[in-house]
Amino acid sequence: MSVTITGFETHDVRFPTSLSGDGTDAMNTDCDYSSAYVTLKSSSELVGHGMTFTIGRGNDIVCAAIKEVANRLLGKDVEDLFSNMGKTWDYLCADPQLRWIGPEKGVIHIALGAVNNALWDMYARSRKKPLWKLIVDMTPEELVNSTAFRYISDAITKEEALTMLKAKESSKAEREAHVREVGYPAYVTSAGWLGYSDEKVARLTREAVQAGFNHFKMKVGADRDNDLRRGKIIRSIIDDPQYLPEGRKPRDPNGPDLVGKNAGPTGSVLMIDANQVWDVPQAIDYVKGLEDIKPWFIEEPTAPDDILGHAAIRKALKPYGIGVATGEHAHNRMVFKQLLQADAIDVCQIDSCRLAGVSEVLSVLLMAAKFGVTVCPHAGGVGLCEYVIHLSLIDYIAVSGSMERNVLEFVDHLHEHFLHPCSINNNGRYNVPNHADEGYSIEMHQSSISQYEWPHGSYWVNEHPKLKAQMQAASKA
Ligand SMILES: [Mg+2]
Repeated sequence: MSVTITGFETHDVRFPTSLSGDGTDAMNTDCDYSSAYVTLKSSSELVGHGMTFTIGRGNDIVCAAIKEVANRLLGKDVEDLFSNMGKTWDYLCADPQLRWIGPEKGVIHIALGAVNNALWDMYARSRKKPLWKLIVDMTPEELVNSTAFRYISDAITKEEALTMLKAKESSKAEREAHVREVGYPAYVTSAGWLGYSDEKVARLTREAVQAGFNHFKMKVGADRDNDLRRGKIIRSIIDDPQYLPEGRKPRDPNGPDLVGKNAGPTGSVLMIDANQVWDVPQAIDYVKGLEDIKPWFIEEPTAPDDILGHAAIRKALKPYGIGVATGEHAHNRMVFKQLLQADAIDVCQIDSCRLAGVSEVLSVLLMAAKFGVTVCPHAGGVGLCEYVIHLSLIDYIAVSGSMERNVLEFVDHLHEHFLHPCSINNNGRYNVPNHADEGYSIEMHQSSISQYEWPHGSYWVNEHPKLKAQMQAASKA
């Protein structure tokens, strides 16, 4: 008997991260990490979970949009949907009235991201594979059919994508075995939030080095002297062999995995992230002034839609050996297409749910591989680390075939709310998700949903008012 989509539930789940300063940067000063969460239900036991990430207010608006998009799936046969996920994506995108409030950008697009991811989660569960495995086991034809291809054929055609995927096919098993053994390279952002004191930054950096990481990211853009001081604190720790874990040798800063990244003497790399605060000339001037701390790249130096602005910044910073990265706010595959066509980026930072789900991510992975640009997905937030390990595995095993120059963002917040939280091994690399029933690894504990659902969850009703009152009393004292 055929299985059909019978309904869905959405949840507006918000975590009070603004109380601790976690997630603070030059633009986002007061974040309550939030999930606009959706569960698709079917006529069988099969379900699919998905979410998109926001930083608090407005999460309810995304949930309302998710309902509109998910409505389009009601009554559909799941095997029909799964049989051509690219076509399914086009269908979800193409509501003649909803399209007006995009198209393919803003709230309606990130809502589509949540729904498309939920459908992929359901598909992976139905095949008893984690999502990445479902996709790397596809034939090149199946993978191309799963991809959102509209509007990108001037950068890559389906035929070119097929040729690229076929060239990688015979060595997939080898790469899968290798990454299962060693894990996927990661970098740490949690040490360098703007809201943290120098002492906290130093302590967290030492801890990150001990944990095996060798790429570190710091938030910049509020005050240059401040940034230089904090950057020098981080550099003084990551460049000093005494802080390396016992028995760990420094890595060769000129080795193939590190060359061009401004690695220090221990092989450690520093990246900086401005979260869109500057105009183009200001970005160039400010980042030149940070040359002393030798960053690999400046992330999001200016407005995320400003493709030519990014290209100008990249050109101006090239003589200083500093690259440009962006993508966490690039709202669709066409923005990535143009960033690549305009030589505007050194590193492509896809986001798992700002792009409208796996199908659109696949199109960007294919374009980045064709243009030879490294993909280092954006993560952090809530749920994003759980999602992106799947995407990087797909990139490595099936698409680009390379991993050692890539690094996947890792932020150690809020993983405890997921049934299958991501994890990091002793060498600071992501472990490979491996449960037959974890799908896209984004299923949240029921207890977390009921505690943190906005505004009536038990945390928001009972604990938050008390905590707020305590903090206000402490700041007056
Ligand atoms: Mg960022």
